[in-house]
Amino acid sequence: MNMGHKIRIYPTPEQEELCNKSFGCARFVYNHFLGMASESRFESYNKYNKQLTALKNELPWLKEPDKYALQSALEDLRDAFNRFFSRQNRYPKFKRKHGPKQSYRTYIVANQGKDKINYNIELSKEAIKLPKLGWVKANVHKPIDGQIKSVTVSKTGSGEFYASVCVEADSVSQIPSGNGEIGLDLGIKDFVVTSSGEKIANPKTLAKHEKRIALLQRNLSRKNKGSKNYAKNKAKLAKLHQKVANIRKDFQHKLSHRIVRDNQIIIIETLRVKNMLKNRRLSKAISDVSWSRFATMLEYKSKWHKREFHKVGAFFASSQLCHVCEHKNPDVKDLDIRVWECPKCKTVHDRDFNAAKNILKQGLKELKTA
Ligand SMILES: [Zn+2]
Repeated sequence: MNMGHKIRIYPTPEQEELCNKSFGCARFVYNHFLGMASESRFESYNKYNKQLTALKNELPWLKEPDKYALQSALEDLRDAFNRFFSRQNRYPKFKRKHGPKQSYRTYIVANQGKDKINYNIELSKEAIKLPKLGWVKANVHKPIDGQIKSVTVSKTGSGEFYASVCVEADSVSQIPSGNGEIGLDLGIKDFVVTSSGEKIANPKTLAKHEKRIALLQRNLSRKNKGSKNYAKNKAKLAKLHQKVANIRKDFQHKLSHRIVRDNQIIIIETLRVKNMLKNRRLSKAISDVSWSRFATMLEYKSKWHKREFHKVGAFFASSQLCHVCEHKNPDVKDLDIRVWECPKCKTVHDRDFNAAKNILKQGLKELKTA
């Protein structure tokens, strides 16, 4: 299994231009061969790869960017067709020039030098070496262990550049086993509520930025679409959205790391997202907390560190059961009820803690019978 590390990079104007060319050429290659393929036919990768060489002689500008980016584009197309043929995906679509995120992937190649092996990708404390670009200034917060396999260079809608460094996870150090067991509930007010009695809120800075986003959005709707101010505001808005996304991701990475570090068994609830989206108030909460991405982080980090990760069945009524006597209290369906007393055993419950405890209990039961 592989592991990705995303770092911010700061290309010079020349490097930026070359990145933009690589985005464009990778997209061109993808679209070109997609145009040649059809629903019934995707010729072999090798055949297309030979044609790519010929195409490069015809169109010399294709030789300018990172050549591995072009090959990766062809590989991506092959994978997209494989998924289509095995009915996992729809028919591949053409990539748009003005998509929200531009990217290309490049991979590591070793060359035997005179007295040592040279790699086309290298990482230092404050820079990353990439094919054609050379050393690009980068913000590497912590050392990246393991053998680098590939790097995806991307540019966000607000013009920030990132490099996602993919390393082989076999060589990643494992966290020693924790011995806790934990159940997690998606909070409405909080991000996560745990069976061990912790309520973890979203970072406070998020609310502040979100207020500002709402304000800018309102301003934007009043402005003239063609005006200079409109463009300026739109750029500001994109930057702010990016910032919020970064804060949220960082928060979720740290939290999922801590939970996986401290526990051997991690149980969460299977969310019926479609059902929940019908309820408008909850839908905001869901998009806000982006729970499903967090769940994915927990899942893959659990795999890396050999933890047991389990989702309890979708129809398990985690909120309505009393975790002490298992009496079911349908009154609790009402989301406004934050604290309730079990009519049978008289235990007073905090709605979310009780749910998290039930999730843990149920998960352990399901793991035993599985
Ligand atoms: Zn009870």
